[in-house]
Parts: sequence; structure tokens; C-alpha cells
Amino acid sequence: MEMPNTSPPTVTLEALEAKYAVAERTSAANYAFYLGATNDNLDVVRALDPTAAAGIKVFMGSSTGNMLVDDEKTLAAIFRDAPVILTTHCESTPRIQQRLKAAIERYGRDIPITEHPNIRDAEACYLSSSKAVELAREHDAQLHVLHLTTEREMALFEPGPVAGKSITAEVCAHHLYFCSDDYAEKGNLIKCNPAVKTRADRDALRAALKSGRIDIIATDHAPHTREEKASEDYVVAPAGLPLVQDALLSVMELVHDGLLTLPEIVVKTAHNPAVRFNVRERGFLREGYHADLVILDDRAETHVRRETVLSRCGWSPFEGSRFRSRIDSTFVNGHLAWHNGALVEHDRASRLAFDRQSRY
Ligand SMILES: [Zn+2]
Repeated sequence: MEMPNTSPPTVTLEALEAKYAVAERTSAANYAFYLGATNDNLDVVRALDPTAAAGIKVFMGSSTGNMLVDDEKTLAAIFRDAPVILTTHCESTPRIQQRLKAAIERYGRDIPITEHPNIRDAEACYLSSSKAVELAREHDAQLHVLHLTTEREMALFEPGPVAGKSITAEVCAHHLYFCSDDYAEKGNLIKCNPAVKTRADRDALRAALKSGRIDIIATDHAPHTREEKASEDYVVAPAGLPLVQDALLSVMELVHDGLLTLPEIVVKTAHNPAVRFNVRERGFLREGYHADLVILDDRAETHVRRETVLSRCGWSPFEGSRFRSRIDSTFVNGHLAWHNGALVEHDRASRLAFDRQSRY
């Protein structure tokens, strides 16, 4: 389920269908796409067939791609009228701009990357995510808050199973793995929005998975080139990481460390996304369901090196990591797609279907 801040941005029904057409020809994975909301495409949001998109993404704070929705009336109308689940990127842009200005005054062009979580700080996250939750309550909307990063935000969400919740929460693999201690070694390679925060924040995210305040584990996949990421200039270096390849292995480290159980990983990465997004006949090992399977060996290691990176961008923030699991095989709709450390060519990927009759 891919995000709309692409080039061109997915903010019209035509752009959405154009992506499906490309995926139909080229995708090796099953796919669906989000429609992006903007300050001026409310008509498109209202006209969306609820089965035609994974959901609607609302940038309540700006990130890569300049799709910020900051018009208060439009924002309220989106929450009131969206025909499908809303997913939000929550960071307060006015606060970030103010803190970036202060950092430029202090450091000039030499802002150290360690300032990233101070510029895009916990308060910027809370201001925005608390507002999203408030709007969802006010308008009785279905809301899924994406890629949470801070301890403070956890109080906004209810513990317990996903079924029946109208407001749900997500964490990304890299925010469970990295913390601010890693900027010294990784630098801009782990620059992402929202920023990787403190060790205490990371611990709180892990605990929230256990309690059910966080329902879903997802991943970023923003394959900026090595040259772009190598920029010495904090302001110029793009935010985002290529993570799809090793996301599951990185999350499995939580199992090896005794923080989560294997069944809990299955719930957060497969069952809950299927339940929350009403994905038809996927996400569970069930008779009659599509066989989207991963066979994982939890007694073999994976050493991530530059040579093992499959993404065209040619780098991974996990380079040098030694994961205590290995993916043996991956099946897409029952067809082998990955085996013995290599991709298997196939043309069996398909568009995800959603069981959504009415507004939700
Ligand atoms: Zn986002």
C-alpha cells in the first residue's frame, strides 16, 4: 500500500488509476495505492470509490513532496466527508519551521544531523497527532495515524485488540530499530520524517506494541540515491529510507531480544493491517485466502552488506547489521517470488481488493 507523495503526486483519480496500470504491468508484489489529500482536491476525496484506494493520506505536516494540508476548513471537511479510512502524517509544520529557523541562526549551513530530532521534535509530533485524534472524534472518522515516534503520543491511543477501534496507530520498522544514539554513526542515512527520536521513545514504541496502543508495524521505503543522502548539508539531504527488503528481519530482532513473540509479529504485520484496511481474503493463513507467505528461518543469520541491497538506490541504513533470522522463501498469491537469496521472476502479483460497502 504505497504512499501518494510520488512524482507525479497521486492527488487525482486519474493519477491513482495510472499507478494501478503501471503496477499491473510491473509489480512483483501485490499492491494498492493511497489517494493524497491536498488543500484543493476535496471534490476528488469525496468522489473516491472506497474500494479503489488503500485509504486517503493526509499530510498534516509537510514532508517529502509538499502535500501539506493546513487549511483548517479543508481539514475538517476531509475528516467529515472522507469515504474511506484516513491515514495521517502528523508533525506541526509551523513549529518545525520556527525551530529550523532557530537552528540556522545558530549553526548557519552547518546544522549537525543530531539536531534533526530537535527541529522535528516530540512537541511538533504531539501538536499534530493530538489534533488528528481530536478531529476524528469530532467527525466520527476512521483514522489511522502513521509512523508514530514518541512516548508522549502513546497516551492518545487505546490499548487492546484492533477490532472495533475507530482510531488506530502505527509504528515503522526503523523507529523500532534505530534511536538518536545512531546519528553519530549513520548520519543523514537515518534522516527521515518524523525523525528517529530518543532511546526512551523507542522503548515506549516497543512497549506500546505489546499493550496494543500501536496496532500495526509498517515500513518506509524512500529510495533516495546515495549521492543525495551523502550531502553534507542538513537542509539539502533528503529524508526517507529504503527499507522494504529487510524490514521484517529488523522487526524479528524484537523477538530474538524477547520483547515480542512471533505470533505478536504476525498480528502486527499481517492480521491487523488486513482487518483495519478491510483487505479481502488476505493477512491470515486460512482456507480460501490468498497464499501470501513468508518462510523464515530464525536460526540462520543475515548479514546486510552493500552488495546484498536489491533496491536500485544501492544502499541500506541496515548495512553492517547482522540479523538473527533469514528469509528462506516468499510466496505471492501462492507463487514463489523469493528463494535461496534471490528474486524469482513471476507475473502473479495482483491488485488488493477491499471489502467496504458503505462509508467504511
Ligand atoms: Zn508520512
